Amino acid sequence: MTDTNTNLIKPMLETIYPVIDYGKGVYLYDKSGKEYLDASSGAITANIGHGVKEIIDAMNEQAKRVSFVYRSQFTSEAAENLAKKIAELAIGDLNWSFFVNSGSEATETAMKIAIQYWQEKGIFTKNKVLSRWMSYHGITLGALSMSGHTGRRARFIPLLEDFPVIHPPYCYRCPYNRKAPECGYVCAQELDTVIKRIGAEQIAAFIAEPIIGASGGAITPPKDYYRVIKEICERNNILFIADEVMTGFGRTGPMLACEHWDIEPDIVALGKGMGAGYAPIAAALVSDRIMEPILTGSKIVMSGHTLSANPQSCAVSLAVLEYLDKKKIMKEVAGKGAYLIKELERLQEQYPIIGDIRGKGLMIGLEFVQNQKDKTPFPRAFLLTQKLIQYAERCGIIIYPAGAGIDGVNGDAILIAPPLTIKTVEIDELVKRFHQALKMLTDYVS
Ligand code: PLP
Repeated sequence: MTDTNTNLIKPMLETIYPVIDYGKGVYLYDKSGKEYLDASSGAITANIGHGVKEIIDAMNEQAKRVSFVYRSQFTSEAAENLAKKIAELAIGDLNWSFFVNSGSEATETAMKIAIQYWQEKGIFTKNKVLSRWMSYHGITLGALSMSGHTGRRARFIPLLEDFPVIHPPYCYRCPYNRKAPECGYVCAQELDTVIKRIGAEQIAAFIAEPIIGASGGAITPPKDYYRVIKEICERNNILFIADEVMTGFGRTGPMLACEHWDIEPDIVALGKGMGAGYAPIAAALVSDRIMEPILTGSKIVMSGHTLSANPQSCAVSLAVLEYLDKKKIMKEVAGKGAYLIKELERLQEQYPIIGDIRGKGLMIGLEFVQNQKDKTPFPRAFLLTQKLIQYAERCGIIIYPAGAGIDGVNGDAILIAPPLTIKTVEIDELVKRFHQALKMLTDYVS
């Protein structure tokens, strides 16, 4: 668990984590031999499951050739081939990849490229990046500045920029008490108001997770939401950055979740599933039109880390993409997700503490409430999410905490996001184990 919500720190320090011995497919096994069904792919990362031979072989092959070349001196076949493959699979003209090592580095790189884009065009005032509350873009200070996760921001507020400015598209608890599409996407329209207030001449970009993950539990915007956002960005000369660190690489079905809304971002951040947990790798993907003034201007992207484009990590990521492609895994995600949601909805009928089930593909969020009608959250003191995670672990299933609530602290939500390779019988086993955990949770709250 990596949640840094201040309410969770004490129980976390008291937790003694089991020592995992090995993993196979969707299962992990600890030193005592206990089996865990990895229903969250760790932190929505182990997208093709554990112990996949093809990835281990690719890793070994690359290690035999060369494990490290410095990005400012050399490139490698692994990095070049990965960039080519990503450009082939990504929508639009996202033809440039800048490889880094974590999602936080990817979103910060995206932010810096957006600012540099305007500088190359001779505009030096566009330095702000706007974002939404209840978002999460990473833990380093620049990425945390963009994040609207109040729990994770709390300790560092004096060091952070005020980039989160608008409400998230949280239809389950709409702050305007409206329903889409009749609402006219008022939460998206807020962006226009804020831009007018701050001044478009100061704003480089707007960043959003297509589906909000860690900070709310698969909060999924309605059909035309991103069309409205994109139109506002374009009208105001503001770039649109899609943070696909969690949603990318097929997690929701297509290569990029933006495809569900038929929008083409200017810059995309990728991470997590890119290395599928076999190696640390992430990326900022940049479209031709954003690269153009940089290529004709300074000709250098002002960012990079010692281990950027590490050949070992690139070989892993390329093997992951080829594995997804060869086995046509992304094509099966929508069907598997629909089946899992149907099974979870059956549980919801029996367990009214499940208030909402949402998401796309195999990124599914569940929000818990005292009662479905008025959606009252459980009191914070219940530590409901913690309890559920503990019960789940006891029942041999791993789920991911995704604190909900409009203030980003109160409210309880989890993510269920198993490896995309999960089989139907394994989904049935997941639901069976989750059901046992829900029974324990119901006894706890009653
Ligand atoms: N962006 C999103 C959408 C994420 O979910 C995360 C991590 O949860 C990050 C960025 C940060 O990624 P990392 O933890 O690899 O730095």
